Amino acid sequence: MMIIDLSGRIALVTGGSRGIGFAIARRLLAAGATVVLNSRHIDDSAVAELRATAPEQVHLELGDIAQPESARQLVRNVFSRYKRLDILVNNAGIMRPAMIGMISDEDVQATFDINLTSPIQLIQAAARLMARTGGSIVNVASVVGLEGAPGQLAYAASKAGVVGVTRAAAKELAPKGVRVNAVAPGYIETDMTQHLGDAVRDQSLQSIGLGRAGSPDEVADAVLFLCSDMARYITGQILRVDGGMVI
Ligand code: NAP
Repeated sequence: MMIIDLSGRIALVTGGSRGIGFAIARRLLAAGATVVLNSRHIDDSAVAELRATAPEQVHLELGDIAQPESARQLVRNVFSRYKRLDILVNNAGIMRPAMIGMISDEDVQATFDINLTSPIQLIQAAARLMARTGGSIVNVASVVGLEGAPGQLAYAASKAGVVGVTRAAAKELAPKGVRVNAVAPGYIETDMTQHLGDAVRDQSLQSIGLGRAGSPDEVADAVLFLCSDMARYITGQILRVDGGMVI
């Protein structure tokens, strides 16, 4: 059996402070990668947990990636420190539910800036670095971006955009040895879904074939696979990680 070994690889994970991004960072570290982690804040306990086994393989780059310049600066910082980038995981995201007619312009803008514009900026900057060595980009989309959901107009549009970005970037970057895929999680227990409340939770659970919510680690396992050489012949794909929510 091939074991996933990412020793010597440099990975950049956005939104890595908690939830799905934190689980992804943990999985990549366990596979031997050096992880550059971005978010606006991170708890000391989360940093301590990540640094417990390989402290020199965790590097923090705190900042708001909604600003195009900070996304570009993030990749410049990775280049100055490591001179390479092998893995980019565009995970940072926000969800601000509101019914049609009640969605503020500010929420539309913020949702697009963080969920869609920042992955575009990061892919642009990262592709230049990855073109030297090859690489793997994984975007965190959502089942909502594929299927839609009430109260999620802006979020669904941003995640549908991520699906388009994934396919377009995969076509353009394949000749350079850069693979681009996405995962589309369903209902995963994190701070994001906790804010949706019990009624949405109950309704979501009813639609899941496996009968339970997913965990951040279950999404992280799929991301780890796509980042690794086990997925070396896979690009342009959207992998649903939803427990059979949509079959
Ligand atoms: P979460 O627990 O709310 O975590 C979101 C992460 O994004 C945090 O680390 C947050 O850190 C970071 N972030 C938010 N805005 C940022 C900004 N402007 N700059 C830098 N970092 C920022 O959410 P999650 O559930 O783990 O979601 C992770 C990804 O999965 C998102 O893209 C989400 O849309 C997607 N997803 C989640 C589910 C689900 O059921 N949970 C389902 C489908 C897709 P700071 O707040 O400290 O910046």
